[in-house]
Amino acid sequence: MNSVSDFLYYLLLILDFLMPKRTDNYQEYLRSSRWRGIRKRALERAGYRCQLCNSPTRLQVHHRTYDRLGNERLDDLIVLCQKCHTAFHVHRKLHKPRKRA
Ligand SMILES: [Zn+2]
Ligand SMILES: [Zn+2]
Repeated sequence: MNSVSDFLYYLLLILDFLMPKRTDNYQEYLRSSRWRGIRKRALERAGYRCQLCNSPTRLQVHHRTYDRLGNERLDDLIVLCQKCHTAFHVHRKLHKPRKRA
């Protein structure tokens, strides 16, 4: 049984849905010079390649966690090409998080 984490998962989905404000702030943050700097460092560290498939095209920087949004560590970020990034998010939506062993 995994009902507690299932519950938290759906709660987070609902909160995400109910709080467009957070998204607005996030979109704003993505336009900030601070984010541009962090993004550039993440890309440089990855050698301007997708960290999954090594593609050098259409790179995007994905947040592995939003815990330190605005104050990210490089480890919080992963560089993905558009294809891998989309697949990653689709995958996450299709599969509920599993309890860690
Ligand atoms: Zn890729
Ligand atoms: Zn992402």
